[in-house]
Amino acid sequence: MIIELQNAALTYQAADGEVEALGGVSFSMEEGEFCSIVGPSGCGKSTLLGAIAGLERLSGGSIFLDGTEITGPSPLIGFMPQRDQLFPWRNIWDNVTLGLSIRRQNTPQRQDAVRALLDRYGLSAFAGKRPGQLSGGMRQRCALIRTLATEPRILLLDEPCSALDYQTRLSVTDHISRIIREQGKTALLVTHDISEAVSMSDRVIVLTHRPATVKAVFDMGPLKSLTPMERRDSPLFPGYFNSIWKELDVHGT
Ligand code: ADP
Repeated sequence: MIIELQNAALTYQAADGEVEALGGVSFSMEEGEFCSIVGPSGCGKSTLLGAIAGLERLSGGSIFLDGTEITGPSPLIGFMPQRDQLFPWRNIWDNVTLGLSIRRQNTPQRQDAVRALLDRYGLSAFAGKRPGQLSGGMRQRCALIRTLATEPRILLLDEPCSALDYQTRLSVTDHISRIIREQGKTALLVTHDISEAVSMSDRVIVLTHRPATVKAVFDMGPLKSLTPMERRDSPLFPGYFNSIWKELDVHGT
């Protein structure tokens, strides 16, 4: 197991009292697995990613990465946020190698690896362009390559497609999924979109209302060998979607 959460609990101390965000979350992931987390709005999904990234301190329980307890940010964990957060004044090359520069890892070998990623995913011709000259989908691919450049063991993705229009979102979902699978990365995606979770993941973890606990876990079974586009076309797709929808307690939200 690469990631293991044992009763992860987190209570925020807010000005107007305590907010219990995580109520004891337990699950684990195998190396190379792609899991999604879905749950009602405000249930604690981003909090959970923040805790795994070592950015939020647990008030109870533990999270282990490869057997070692996570107590702070780690270079082994890559984070991809909702917005691409590319700097508009830097060209694409300088943006995707930014993490390497910050970590003083901008070696010729790492640069070659980044060049290979840009090449493989159709972006090498844009290395000298500024983010504003690229489409939303290309920018998200750049953001993913920037995250992959530092060679993390696990990728955390916080609604990476939510800022995109629906059509762009479908193709970005396909690209992100393909890149993560080809690069053999372990990935944990937070999304409010059940279709996105079913089309990308090996397993979908459904959380309860706040304070979040794991309500149900769905294995995507025969869909796992298919691409997101193929999954959406599969006659099995609606069955998985509906089973998750029924578990997702969205009444009153
Ligand atoms: P989700 O990602 O599922 O929408 P969040 O993890 O963002 O939910 O938030 C879970 C709960 O914790 C919400 O009620 C939110 O208002 C609260 N919360 C999030 N961050 C903080 C914080 N820094 N201080 C206090 N409360 C917070």
